[in-house]
Amino acid sequence: MESADFVVVGSGIAGLTFALTVAGRGRVIVITKKDDAESATNMAQGGIAAVTRDPDSFEKHIEDTLTAGVGLCNREAVGIAVRSGPAAVERLMEWGTRFSRTESSDGSIAFDLGREGGHSDRRIVHASDMTGREIETALLRALGRHPNVEMWEDHVAIDLVVRDTPAGRACGGVRVLDVERDRVVTVAASVTVLATGGAGKVYLYTTNPDIASGDGVAMAYRAGVPIRNMEFIQFHPTCLYHPTVKSFLISEAVRGEGAVLRGLSGRRIMEGQHPREDLAPRDVVARAIDKTMKTTGDKHAYLDISHVDAARVRERFPNIVTRLAELGIDMTSEPIPVVPAAHYLCGGIEVDLECRTTLPGLYAVGETAHTGMHGANRLASNSLLEAVVFSRRAAGSAIAELDDRRAALGPAPDPAWHGNEAGSVPEGVLLDYNWDVVRRLMWDYVGIVRNERRLVLAGARMAGIAEEVDDLFSRYPVSGDLLELRNICLVGDLIIRSALERKESRGLHFMEDFPERDDEHFLSDTVVVRNA
Ligand SMILES: Cc1cc2nc3c(=O)[nH]c(=O)nc-3n(C[C@H](O)[C@H](O)[C@H](O)COP(=O)(O)OP(=O)(O)OC[C@H]3O[C@@H](n4cnc5c(N)ncnc54)[C@H](O)[C@@H]3O)c2cc1C
Repeated sequence: MESADFVVVGSGIAGLTFALTVAGRGRVIVITKKDDAESATNMAQGGIAAVTRDPDSFEKHIEDTLTAGVGLCNREAVGIAVRSGPAAVERLMEWGTRFSRTESSDGSIAFDLGREGGHSDRRIVHASDMTGREIETALLRALGRHPNVEMWEDHVAIDLVVRDTPAGRACGGVRVLDVERDRVVTVAASVTVLATGGAGKVYLYTTNPDIASGDGVAMAYRAGVPIRNMEFIQFHPTCLYHPTVKSFLISEAVRGEGAVLRGLSGRRIMEGQHPREDLAPRDVVARAIDKTMKTTGDKHAYLDISHVDAARVRERFPNIVTRLAELGIDMTSEPIPVVPAAHYLCGGIEVDLECRTTLPGLYAVGETAHTGMHGANRLASNSLLEAVVFSRRAAGSAIAELDDRRAALGPAPDPAWHGNEAGSVPEGVLLDYNWDVVRRLMWDYVGIVRNERRLVLAGARMAGIAEEVDDLFSRYPVSGDLLELRNICLVGDLIIRSALERKESRGLHFMEDFPERDDEHFLSDTVVVRNA
């Protein structure tokens, strides 16, 4: 058993921001599944939304966010995030992030602001088209210098340690699989933070990295913490369609610079579909592509920026241009084949405005948390913003309550692990098969366009698979693959159950049999809690 003041599960922007902010106040252990940089953060291309110059305003950014969220945003959360945007950008720069700059008309140097779908102004602060990598690298470098912080790579959090204290149930740390040494370790901590990112791996096609199996949501749910709005999964309209390359995103910023979507016939997909055409919110664009593909039988669509000045395209998107060139696609002169893919989890672990969950001692930050900022649909580039702003608030709150938490938990917890030891399932095919089935089931039955019948069928099939996986979990040693499979089954089930509760169409959740928005019955969050 190990102990720390703060244990942070996840080394993306949310976990690192939290760790850097609390590092001066106690021992911090950051647990991360694979390499420290393997995260969605590292893949973010577009940038971070923040109001940094006139005539843009907080009011306009708030309005754009609320419009995208279709009535379900928590206005307070939106106001906090937007108004803290400039300070968040400053803080990232203090930690070493270098954002792209340009010379303005009066000769001064300012941020080179990008424009993205749903934003009424240019307000995306970016580092070329590798914003996430620049941020991740800077934060890891800043953290690496801190003597109070330890980074545990190749450690997979299994479940939370929930303890009974005189004041009631509380989180006392986390059980972790040490992949290199094949053993299960308990990390006891006064404050536990879930910063585990999204759940794109629940779906067959996704822009997310392999770590994104919704582990934080699954762990919190098993510990009795309410989970909100899981039906709102954002599908990014433009993931590269390629026979071998998975998960390569073509940033929304490409449409911001003038790219248009076309069917294989050359017809423009977004013409007449929405007043903002190709810069319409992502859900509208993803559905339009899905509909075109289903109607024509085409396997993909095209994203075309070949009419824009090639030098500007190369300067603005060096990473995308180079990657595509390696694959034989010259985006400056030919269209890019694209498909929609699962991209972002708008729902997640219920938290308050300080990111406290209902379980004392447990915080959740970043994509795994539901602060209420995104409502029924996330505005592009608002997630890096949310992660920095709310992780800093969480850190402030955790520092303030550290002494109380220490006192409440008392001496170190019982370190006994009542599950199986580390190892592997003898018949790996059982894991591989179920992994494929779950992801295919979610894509085909619980994807961009849904209906009640498919959701009910998906729920029944998922229950059967979950039973088999639970059986494997109870009988065999724990491995990373088994843990992820167990989590994607549970998260898939939470998405299905939430989707079935919302008998309307709103934002990212589109039901063929309930195509209208119904404010009378559904202007509220969907909440699922594990029965005691
Ligand atoms: C391709 C792509 C492009 C994007 N572009 C943008 C953009 O331009 N702007 C924007 O605002 N947003 C963008 N997003 C979304 C944004 O990147 C993410 O929402 C954000 O980075 C999430 O940060 P996070 O810290 O919550 O999670 P992540 O960065 O995903 O980090 C999660 C961490 O948790 C760890 N982890 C997970 N489970 C476990 C476990 N069981 N045990 C131990 N560790 C675990 C992982 O290893 C990882 O370190 C993009 C996302 C993708 C996929």
